[in-house]
Amino acid sequence: MRSINSAYAGLPGSYLFSEVARRVRVHKEQHPEENVISLGIGDVSLPLAPAIIEALHGAVDEMGRAETFRGYGPEQGYAFLREAILKHDFLARGVELEADEIFISDGAKSDVGNFQELFGADAVIALTDPVYPVYEDSNAMSGRGGVHENGRWSRILYLPCTADNQFQPELPETRPDVVYLCSPNNPTGTVLGREALAAWVEYARANDTLILFYAAYEAFIRDDAVPHSIYEIPGADEVAVEFRSLSKTAGFTGLRCGYTVVPKKLRARTADGHELSLHDMWLRRQCTKYNGCPYIVQRAAEAAFTEPGRTQLLEALSVYQTNADMMLKACRDMGLRAFGGVHSPYVWLETPGHVSSWSFFDHLLEKAAVVCTPGSGFGASGEGYVRLTAFNTPALTREALERISRVL
Ligand code: PLP
Repeated sequence: MRSINSAYAGLPGSYLFSEVARRVRVHKEQHPEENVISLGIGDVSLPLAPAIIEALHGAVDEMGRAETFRGYGPEQGYAFLREAILKHDFLARGVELEADEIFISDGAKSDVGNFQELFGADAVIALTDPVYPVYEDSNAMSGRGGVHENGRWSRILYLPCTADNQFQPELPETRPDVVYLCSPNNPTGTVLGREALAAWVEYARANDTLILFYAAYEAFIRDDAVPHSIYEIPGADEVAVEFRSLSKTAGFTGLRCGYTVVPKKLRARTADGHELSLHDMWLRRQCTKYNGCPYIVQRAAEAAFTEPGRTQLLEALSVYQTNADMMLKACRDMGLRAFGGVHSPYVWLETPGHVSSWSFFDHLLEKAAVVCTPGSGFGASGEGYVRLTAFNTPALTREALERISRVL
């Protein structure tokens, strides 16, 4: 084989979370007696809610009976789940969409990573910095990055988000074809308010820019003034795709289920001016390359939208929110500058004395046996920060914070 995708040759070293895992593994081998606590990777700790387990059992039993067995399902998801999502996530918030504009998948990572296949090779991509690495890497893998130098790709437009601009990305001066936005944000834990989001929608409409909006942390929003969906902004259905996931809100990080909204009003053009529907393109892509999220998982996901399911999930959510409150308070009591954490499970911590993200990561691992995520792994503007997550148990979160305060 002599003709591989040369974009892979230009990719920088290991994926952030693999490098974190590698350093933790080495530390554990050297200190087997230590109980390392992770406030690092954003994985949940609470088990699945009873309503979800019940639905899973029911669906498993259905698969064991000839009359209810299901084989291949619709690639874009079963209608029962698409309808439940439509009703709960959108119609209940006054957002008018249709069920077949919602595509069910095995999680947002695949959808976010795959969606860029619809863009031209020369499309200009804008990313907030810091950013969830998949947005950047998936475009770079398809050759849209250019050259990688000093932590940045030459063809990608970066929108720095730091304490200086309250982590609000500024509207780009040169027009990108696509911009990725994430609110509540991973990693900074901050949100885009209604006004800021409306400015982005207006910009996208005026500049023919597509917004890819990641809203999987919307359940953490505690203030009604903050939009949960970009479609709460009028006109957004003509310029935005929205990605959601049950990973963090319903504990599906292992079970795997996400969904992507691609409104039929969205139009896009080829370089020679040929107009296509992004909805039709995504449908075509999914039908060709994907055979659908498992039936039993979709039944489990459906349970997340029932009354008992909702109530149980809100209880779990409040555990994580209480952890986030505890983390914010403890960090500030230690005299650290901490951001996010209010409408989000992530606290974005400025390193003390502006030491580098990886130095602070190593310090916390070595001295406190606590794992965080180095901010620089999310982009150049993340240097000098680390991300802490609220997904561990309250007891271990408390202990981790006590250990951190002892080693600072
Ligand atoms: N996008 C962002 C911004 C995320 O934070 C995550 C999960 O951490 C994902 C995508 C992936 O989510 P999923 O588990 O649904 O694949």
